[in-house]
Amino acid sequence: MIIPLALPKNYTWAVPPELQAGIQPGIRVEVILGKNKRYAGIVKKVLASSPEAFKPKDILNVLDSEPLLHPQQLALWEWMADYYMCSEGEVMQAAIPSNLKLSSESVLQWNEERGYDFSDLSDQEYVVAEALEIRKELRIGEVKQILDTAHIYPVVKRLVEKGVCFVWEELKEKYKGKTETYVALDPVYHNEDKLADLLNNWSRAPKQMELLLSYLHLLKTEGEVTQQQLLKKSDATAAQLKALVDKGILRQEKRGVDRIRTLPKQIQIDFTLSPAQQKAFDEIKSILSEKQVCLLHGVTASGKTEIYTQLIEEIIRDGKQVLYMLPEIALTSQIIRRLQKHFGGYIAIYHSKFNPNERVEIWNKVRTGETKIVLGARSSLFLPFKELGLVIADEEQDASFKQQDPAPRYHARDAAIYAASLFNAKVLLGSATPSIESYYNCSRQKYGLVQLMERYGQVELPQIELVDLTKLPGKTKTPVSPALAQAIETSLAAKKQVILFQNRRGYSPYLICHTCGWIPQCKQCDVTLTYHKAKNQLSCHYCGTSYPVLQTCLACGSHNFIQKNFGTEKLEELVAEQFPHAHIARMDYDSVKGKHDHDALIKQFEQQKIDILVGTQMVVKGLDFEHVNLVGVVDADGILHFTDFRVNERAYQLMEQVSGRAGRKDGKGKVLVQVSNMLHPVLQFVKAHDFDALYNYEITNRRHFGYPPFTRLIRIILKHREKHIAEEAANIMMQGLKSNFEQECSGPAQPVVDRVRNQYLWEILVKLPRDTQRIKQCKQEIEQQTIIIQSNKRYRGVSIIPDVDPV
Ligand code: ADP
Ligand code: ZN
Ligand code: ZN
Repeated sequence: MIIPLALPKNYTWAVPPELQAGIQPGIRVEVILGKNKRYAGIVKKVLASSPEAFKPKDILNVLDSEPLLHPQQLALWEWMADYYMCSEGEVMQAAIPSNLKLSSESVLQWNEERGYDFSDLSDQEYVVAEALEIRKELRIGEVKQILDTAHIYPVVKRLVEKGVCFVWEELKEKYKGKTETYVALDPVYHNEDKLADLLNNWSRAPKQMELLLSYLHLLKTEGEVTQQQLLKKSDATAAQLKALVDKGILRQEKRGVDRIRTLPKQIQIDFTLSPAQQKAFDEIKSILSEKQVCLLHGVTASGKTEIYTQLIEEIIRDGKQVLYMLPEIALTSQIIRRLQKHFGGYIAIYHSKFNPNERVEIWNKVRTGETKIVLGARSSLFLPFKELGLVIADEEQDASFKQQDPAPRYHARDAAIYAASLFNAKVLLGSATPSIESYYNCSRQKYGLVQLMERYGQVELPQIELVDLTKLPGKTKTPVSPALAQAIETSLAAKKQVILFQNRRGYSPYLICHTCGWIPQCKQCDVTLTYHKAKNQLSCHYCGTSYPVLQTCLACGSHNFIQKNFGTEKLEELVAEQFPHAHIARMDYDSVKGKHDHDALIKQFEQQKIDILVGTQMVVKGLDFEHVNLVGVVDADGILHFTDFRVNERAYQLMEQVSGRAGRKDGKGKVLVQVSNMLHPVLQFVKAHDFDALYNYEITNRRHFGYPPFTRLIRIILKHREKHIAEEAANIMMQGLKSNFEQECSGPAQPVVDRVRNQYLWEILVKLPRDTQRIKQCKQEIEQQTIIIQSNKRYRGVSIIPDVDPV
C-alpha cells in the first residue's frame, strides 16, 4: 500500500473477507497508521497470502469502485522513488490532486460555486454539507463528531465527488477561486422550435426581448456569456435579467473563471506546413519509427508548434493520447488558444491554478481516455494516461522542468521519457537551444536529431550587436547606453515594439554603505537584500522576508547608503524618464502576481497598447509577438557571471531565446547586447546564432572537468539550525561514502548561500561514472548513511536531502 507520506517503505494491511471483492491495485482504501492516524492509501499490490512475520491490521473501508490510475502510473511512481531517492508516498503526494487525498490532517472547504441545492445528498452527506455551509471549513475530526461514526471517509469521498467541498492539507495554501456569474438559456429552449415559438409569440416587455436577443448573439460570437457582458451589451438592468430568469427562460450560474470550457470535439488544421517544415516532419516520423526519442532543434519562430500540431493530429486519429509539456511560464493563453483552435474539446489544460474539482475532472477524463491531449507543466506527467502515444517536451532545456522542493525532485523531461517507455510511446523534445545533455544523446545516436534552421516564411534571424559598456564616456554606467537609446527611438518612430531584458527584479539589487561598505543582509539567510522601491522595502529573494528600508548603517552608523546596480523596477523607471511618450510596462514576479495578470499583460502587448516591455525571464519563453523589432539585453555580464557549471549553456539559451522574440514576422529584428566582458566566448556564439559552436566548446569543458553528460551528479544537502551540527552530520556522511566512493565525492562544503530560512547548509557533491551498478550502489550507501546519522539523537533534527541530477 502507498500512503501519502515520506515513509521509508510501503506497508502491508490485511483485507477482511467482506472487502475482498472490491480490492485491486490502484484503488483507495482507508487504513489506520500508527496509533490513530487515518489515511486514504492506494493499493499497490495484492499478496496471495498474509505475511508470516507479523499480523497486519485490517483495511477499514474501500473507497473506490474503479482504480484511480493504471498499472503504468504505479510503475512510474516506483521508478521515480527509486531514481530520485524518495518514497513512493512522496511521489503520490505530488501526483494526485488534493481532492483525491484524504488523511487525518485533511480539512474540507465549502465550495461556494456549488449552491445550496442539497436534494441529491443522502442523510449523512446532508448533515455534513449543512455544517460546511455554515462553518465553511471542517476538519476530518469534526466530521467524525458530526456523524458519530468511525466510517467517515466514504461519506467525505462522496461529498467531494458531488462538488460540495474541496479537500486540502492544512499546511498548504487554500484554493481561492475567482468566480463570475454566467447566463445560460434554459435547456428547454435548446430545441429550436421551442425557441422560435418563444420569440414569435413575445407580446410584452420589449426590453427583455432585446436582452434575450443580445444573449443569443453573444452566445454565437463568444461561445458563452457572462452576466456582466450581457448587461453591458444590452444596456439592461439586473432586474430585467432577473425577470427572464423568473420566467424560466434564462438561468444564472456562478462559475470559476478558469472553468474548463466544454468545446466541441473536433480537429481543425487550417495551415499547411512549409516545405522546410514538411521535411522536418517527415524526418521526425521516420526517426520515431525506429527510435523512442527524437530532438527537434528548430530556431526561434521556425514553427515548431505547427509541426507538433501535425504530429498530435496523427496520434489522436490513431486513438492514442498525447502529453504536451511546457515550462510553467510558457503556458500562456497564447499557446492555449492556438491549440484549442485546432483540437477543441480533445485537449485539456492542466496546471496548478485550476480549482481542485476541475483537476479531478481532468484526472478522470484522462484516465478513461476521453481526453486525448493534455497541455501542461511538469506535474501533468502524473496524469493517469490510458494509452499514451506521444510525449512532447517543448523548451526541453528549461530548468523549471526540474522540481526543486519538495521531493520528488524529478526532472519532468527525463521522467516523461521513462513514462513513455512504459506505454511504448514516442517522445519528441523540442528547442531552439537544446540542452547539452540532449544534444549529446543525439551525437551518440541514442536520440534522433532533426534540424529546422530557417524561420517560417524564410524570415531572417535577428541581427545581434554587442555594445561595449567599457567604452562608454565617463564613469556613470546608465542602464540604457546611447546606442540602445538610439535604437529604441528608431523602433518607436516606426511604431514597433521593444523588449528590454534584465535578469534581476526589484529596484536595485542591493544597498551599500558608502562609508564602510556594509550591505544589508537577510536575518535568516546568507544573502544580500534587494531594494524594492514601490513597496519601499528590502526583501530577501530566497525566503521572501521583507524588511523596512534602513536609514542608518548597522556597522558604522552613517546615513550614507548608495544603490548598487539596477533591477527591472529601476530600469522601468529610468526608461520612463528617458522616453516620456512611450507606454511602458514591466513583467516580472512582482508586477505579475497571478495567471490573469500575466495573460492580461501579454494581451495588451499583443494589441500594441504597450511600446516597451521591461522584464525578467518571464518575457523570454515561447511568446509570439508580431511587432517586436528590437530586444535589448541590458546587462549581459550579470548573466555570464555565475559559478554553476552550466553557466555558459544557460547564458547562451537565455540570450538566444530572448533575441528570438525580435522580428518574428518580417525578419527586421535587431538585438543589442550590452556587456563589459566583450571577450567572453559565449557572446561570439550568440552573435552568430551558432549553437553547434557553443555545444563543441561546452562539451569539451564538460569532458575535461567530468561534468554531465559524462557523469551523473548527486548533490546531498544537510540542513540544521546549528552550523556545527549540520557540519558534523555532513562529515559523517562524507566519511561513510569515502570507503567506497572516495574518488567521486567532494565536500562537505558550504554552498554560496549557506544559510536559508535559519538553517545552515552543507553540501556534498558526488560525481559518478555512468555505470548503473555503481550509481545504484552509491544511492544505497547514501540511504544507509542517512539512517545511521538520523538514528543518532544528536542529529535527529538534521534534514538530509539527496538531489539526483541537480540543475
Ligand atoms: P516556434 O515555436 O518554433 O518559435 P511558432 O510555432 O511560434 O515557432 O511559429 C512562429 C510563427 O509563424 C507563428 O505566428 C505561427 O503561427 C507562424 N507559422 C509557423 N508555421 C506556419 C505555417 N505552416 N502556416 C502558417 N503560419 C505558420
Ligand atoms: Zn557603514
Ligand atoms: Zn531570507
